[in-house]
Amino acid sequence: MIFKIIAARELALFFDILAVNKIVGPVKKGSAADGRALYDFDVVYDLAELSLDFDQTIHPAKKYFLPYLEETCSFAIRDKGWEKEVDYGAYRPVVLFGLHACDINALNKLDKVLLAEPYPNRFYAAKRASMFIVGHSCQPTPACFCHAMGTDSVLQGCDLFLTPMGDEYFVEIFSSRAYHILENLNLREPGSKDHKLFQEAVEARKNLFTAEVDTSDLTKILDMEFDSPVWDQWGEKCLSCGTCAQVCPTCYCYGVEEVVAMDMASAGKIRQLYSCNLLDFAEVAGGHNFRPESRGRLKYRYYHKHRGFVEAFEEALCVGCGRCGTNCLADINVPEVIASVRGGEVEDV
Ligand code: SF4
Ligand code: SF4
Repeated sequence: MIFKIIAARELALFFDILAVNKIVGPVKKGSAADGRALYDFDVVYDLAELSLDFDQTIHPAKKYFLPYLEETCSFAIRDKGWEKEVDYGAYRPVVLFGLHACDINALNKLDKVLLAEPYPNRFYAAKRASMFIVGHSCQPTPACFCHAMGTDSVLQGCDLFLTPMGDEYFVEIFSSRAYHILENLNLREPGSKDHKLFQEAVEARKNLFTAEVDTSDLTKILDMEFDSPVWDQWGEKCLSCGTCAQVCPTCYCYGVEEVVAMDMASAGKIRQLYSCNLLDFAEVAGGHNFRPESRGRLKYRYYHKHRGFVEAFEEALCVGCGRCGTNCLADINVPEVIASVRGGEVEDV
């Protein structure tokens, strides 16, 4: 890996070089009732529009590579019969500017599923292929537990990663394209003082985590506790609203609907992200629902993330971003659910 130091003022030049592409980054969108600033990813045209000191966005940047709704192909009747047009939705390279380590690691996890042969998701792959990612370090919120999931730092999955150090940034360069762009700028080599400052920043950040999740032997414990009453208790709280999947950077389940126009002259195939917590997620043709109760659906979500995915990829499908807990209307969050499965109490049921 190559390390450099860039002055904060040079970052504007870097942004301008990238601005021939569509740039997406964290933008302040308003304030919560308690005064907390609310951020979300959006298209920006100037570095000043970015809030790089954001704590967490409401949504991940998912809609730029896994749109919530997309028409994947359309059909029309022409002179020679049906014609099919496939739209991969990758019109212009996208720069994701300011992604935190958790969200970069979420992309790495999605890649394992959605780019894997023999059935890669070509719509996702097309968008990912033209993506440039600028990572940025963060200050953990009380809901964050990425350190427990091993996703609090980045070793791959972005082009470069920025850590602010006073009026400069410590730059970790991961790709040759990032290196060649940065060659046009005024960067300096880091010295031992910079290395020390970087390590101090990493250490200071570690001490800010408050949420804890004990993942040791978790897959085994989940196997043992499959019939635990805690699932009934959490199921009673869950409203089956699907918000947790909507805000989760690693949830990728979807449904496909084929729509035919009344005049039969055209049709389309629409893919829509879905949530395993929604009532009809496990409903099949004929009307049978394999998971008709919220406890089963909620449990399924936890077992996919912390048991099934671990078995397949030796890592959990959760990066500890805390968004599901922050946005859950029933106040259900991963640290408390996992603690209860490990023998803790389920509160306020
Ligand atoms: S866990 Fe929370 S966010 Fe998820 S479906 Fe249930 S109530 Fe909605
Ligand atoms: S399950 Fe929750 S904490 Fe884990 S990655 Fe998804 S939104 Fe973040």
